Amino acid sequence: MGQWAIPQAFTGGGLDEIFAGARSGDIRALARAISLVEERVPGVEGALDGLTFRRRAGPGAPRVLGITGPPGAGKSTLVDRLIALARAEGRTVAVLAVDPSSPFSGGAILGDRLRMQSHALDTGVFIRSLSARGHLGGLSRATGQVVDLFDAAGWDEIIVETVGVGQSELAVCEVADTAVVVLTPESGDTVQAMKAGLLEIADVFLVNKADRPGAEALARELEQAVRLGAPGDGGGWQAPVLTTSALEDQGIEAALDAIGGHARWLCGEGRVDWEARRGRGRLRTVLDLAAESARDEAAAHLQRDPALAAALEGGEVTPAAAWAKIQEDG
Ligand code: GDP
Repeated sequence: MGQWAIPQAFTGGGLDEIFAGARSGDIRALARAISLVEERVPGVEGALDGLTFRRRAGPGAPRVLGITGPPGAGKSTLVDRLIALARAEGRTVAVLAVDPSSPFSGGAILGDRLRMQSHALDTGVFIRSLSARGHLGGLSRATGQVVDLFDAAGWDEIIVETVGVGQSELAVCEVADTAVVVLTPESGDTVQAMKAGLLEIADVFLVNKADRPGAEALARELEQAVRLGAPGDGGGWQAPVLTTSALEDQGIEAALDAIGGHARWLCGEGRVDWEARRGRGRLRTVLDLAAESARDEAAAHLQRDPALAAALEGGEVTPAAAWAKIQEDG
């Protein structure tokens, strides 16, 4: 612990000041606050705890939409369409693009820079990306905290977009009220490989690129899987399967209706499920914080004890034995 220096750029304002700025609609302060969350600057947890979250009040506004799917499925294009629809209705939108596979960080990866350009003049849209920085636990913790920041800062719609690369989207989708899984006719193999996991997380399936052959067949396959799937996590909700063409702007309104249908269900009979999901999210955040903290301690210990590090690298000590020693030494 303790090796996280406050980045130079952030020494100008106190944490509380930055967080207050973020809450009052200062976009630059929001961007800084997110960096502080990402960097795990000491004191961030406390500053976050001092914020007021509208979401805690119940499944009303703001809605947190999670969008996941394999790379190239059309998530960014869909999010752009969703942003346009929300803006047309005067609602503000904050997007967090989470890329578990990307080593980049500090604001925007290339795709987001391009996307941001198209919304650059619109103060009602905020897009930011977050990367794994080596470990996924930290990513889901940071995702939850950034969503909290968006919430406290008063954004109407919050979208968390993540590349589906395995288990990571499970954690990331836990912060979402409604999880949308985007697939394409080309992702048949992915579907086979991920079927169980997808069924577990998806509240709505979108088969995008419906302008290409095979979309209807995949949609039918998914529908069947949803029907056969045990009503486990969904608590009685059956994920609708829709086809869209984000490129040709087809089916987007129907997709939004389906997403809205899930949101309404959450407010009614699905409320219990929603609360359980939120509860699991909070539990997971504690575990993430604990894991990050233990990881930092181990790293610091190995730095202080080069002999142990060398023995570990040389294979004279097993990782389990080294971890036991680190815990022993406190
Ligand atoms: P992401 O990686 O899931 O965010 O996917 P992108 O939104 O970046 O889209 C990947 C590529 O697929 C881009 O070249 C898009 O123009 C294209 N694309 C997105 N939606 C559609 C669609 O509905 N039909 C077709 N044919 N191409 C699409």
